[in-house]
Amino acid sequence: MATLEIRDLHVSVEADNGSREILKGVDLTVKQGETHAIMGPNGSGKSTLAYSIAGHPKYTITGGTVTLDGEDVLEMSVDERARAGMFLAMQYPVEVPGVSVSNFLRTSATAIRGEAPKLRTWVKEVKEAMAELHMDPAFAERNVNEGFSGGEKKRHEILQMELLKPKIAILDETDSGLDVDALRVVSEGVNRVRATGEVGTLLITHYTRILRYIQPDHVHVFAGGRIVESGGPELADKLEAEGYEQYTKGGVAS
Ligand code: ADP
Ligand code: MG
Ligand code: MG
Repeated sequence: MATLEIRDLHVSVEADNGSREILKGVDLTVKQGETHAIMGPNGSGKSTLAYSIAGHPKYTITGGTVTLDGEDVLEMSVDERARAGMFLAMQYPVEVPGVSVSNFLRTSATAIRGEAPKLRTWVKEVKEAMAELHMDPAFAERNVNEGFSGGEKKRHEILQMELLKPKIAILDETDSGLDVDALRVVSEGVNRVRATGEVGTLLITHYTRILRYIQPDHVHVFAGGRIVESGGPELADKLEAEGYEQYTKGGVAS
């Protein structure tokens, strides 16, 4: 069973007026098969955590460790992280002009599996996954994220997750901007992957509503660049009722 371990992670970002520490000692362990929700106010550093684990060059690790089954993730290139079984669904997926969805998915699957998927089974696999996510098959020939609506971009992120079968998936506000129907379809996709028992999921969210569809095993409150409280699903109910204010007053938030 794969285990992602984050220990005392400190991360800074270069701003115009110098370097600024965003993550201030994050500790978290995610095992394959588990679903963790990270909930926190805007600007608390949730996306910074996701990008740092994924290897975005804008973020400088100034302390701590991230390991996957004991292997140093921070030493790996972005490609190596993906091949090791890590996946990031971005809060703001990027457009890739000139690259079709079908090409992008096949190239990604080839890189991660180490060989090109057999064309016949692959086409079927993609078609079925798209149908389950209520995506028009015509999407396969469109350029990645170009002109996609917010909901279409998020479905495309989950499509990648379903096809690439990561060991550890980080979903950064995959629920944001979705109407209730799209939220349900996207959540069903996440739950299908979860039901395999093969994925550990870090579900980052600002709102509690996605947790009605995807029930987390663990809930963590993120404020001021670190986890300030951890508990079970009942912690989400408390947040729903009381909000984040109790965690952000007294200058805890950045
Ligand atoms: P969240 O996802 O919780 O809303 P972010 O991780 O996006 O929070 O941002 C945390 C803080 O770090 C914010 O104050 C944000 O402005 C700052 N920040 C994040 N990324 C960058 C960046 N690339 N350049 C400058 N500041 C950044
Ligand atoms: Mg934000
Ligand atoms: Mg964010």
